[in-house]
Parts: sequence; structure tokens; C-alpha cells
Amino acid sequence: MLQRFLSHLHWDHIMGFPFFRPAYIPGNLIRIHSCHPAVREAMHKQQSDPCFPIDFRALPATIEFVPLEPGRTYEIAGFSVTSLKQFHAGDSYGYRFSRADKTIVYSTDCEHKYSNLDQSYPFIEFYRNADVLIFDAMYSLADTISVKEDWGHSSNVVAVELAQAARVRRLVLFHHEPAYDDRMIEEVFAETVRFEAISRPGHEVEVISAYDGLELEL
Ligand SMILES: [Zn+2]
Ligand SMILES: [Zn+2]
Repeated sequence: MLQRFLSHLHWDHIMGFPFFRPAYIPGNLIRIHSCHPAVREAMHKQQSDPCFPIDFRALPATIEFVPLEPGRTYEIAGFSVTSLKQFHAGDSYGYRFSRADKTIVYSTDCEHKYSNLDQSYPFIEFYRNADVLIFDAMYSLADTISVKEDWGHSSNVVAVELAQAARVRRLVLFHHEPAYDDRMIEEVFAETVRFEAISRPGHEVEVISAYDGLELEL
């Protein structure tokens, strides 16, 4: 069985599914978990005529949608899973997965505004002591407080600050700006490593830049 978790339904998060090979293998069972109420509708719509030749209902695998309630804890595939609603147009949800003494948090498509950040900010608790935090670091700090304010994404700088405050072990910069080439992504990575080092309150956060196929050992 394949278990998948969807933060939200914007195209950049669902448009790969029509090309997801396991969905074409009879006998496969795929479970799509999401707090988003319109997940079934969105997945069906994007595969409807005339946009795609294979209707969602015609996919050979068995695909189930599992609704999750934000804030509740579930036991799924041996993991304890909790979710949190995020600041993003149309809403998105972050997921925190824990098993034994390891925790990984997937939290993308969320705009963390400086005016909201204090010790009671719920995301600090949500990220607390995570071994890995996959974080929306799409923009530069300058962009998030000027032209791209309210566009629903965060910066590499706020990523480091929240990871430090929550004592995260490894921070994965994710949701790279599509207009950036590889060199610009490497520059953002180097700048983030430098910023983490000079702003470090004592606890070190290892910074990683996400790429396709990245695997991390916990
Ligand atoms: Zn989005
Ligand atoms: Zn996105």
C-alpha cells in the first residue's frame, strides 16, 4: 500500500499525479490523506476531458481518499501524524510524522509573517525538536516583505529563525522559486548556511537544499 499526504490542491502539488506510475498498476492500493476537503474533486477535475486522456475513475489502481482533521493525531502506517493549518491562499496543511524517537515535519506553502512570530507562535511547537523540517523557502527575505508579501510563501531567513527557535536538527529548504537556475539555488543555500552560523543561538541547525531524489537517513 502506498500512503500519500497532500498539503493542498494547487497545481504544483497535484499535477504530477496523472503521471504517477503506481496509479496504473492493477492491484495497487494508494491512500491519499489530506485535511483539504476538496481533494477528491480536484484530483478528478484535473484528469477530466479535455485536459487529460485518462479519467481518474479509469486508473487501474485502487485509490482511496482519507480525510484528516487538522490538529488531531492519527496512527498511520506506524507513524503518529498531526497536522496544522497554514497561511496560504485556499489553505494548506503541514504534517508532522513521528515514530519511535524520530520526527519529520513537512511544512510547505505557508507564509510566516514577522508580525506573527513570538514564543506562542503555533509553528514553533509544531516543529519542536524535529529531526528534519522540510520548509517553504521560496523567496528571499527582501521579497517576502515587499513585492511578494501576501503571496503565500516564506524565505530562507525565517526558515532558519523558526528552525532555531524550535531546536530543529536538520532544515531542508524546499519549494525553490521556479525562476531560479541551479546557480541561484546554490547561492541561496550558501547564504542560508552563513546566516544560520552567524545567528546561531547555541543550537546548530544543519541546512540542506532539497533536490529530486534526495534521501535522508534519520
Ligand atoms: Zn500553493
Ligand atoms: Zn506550492
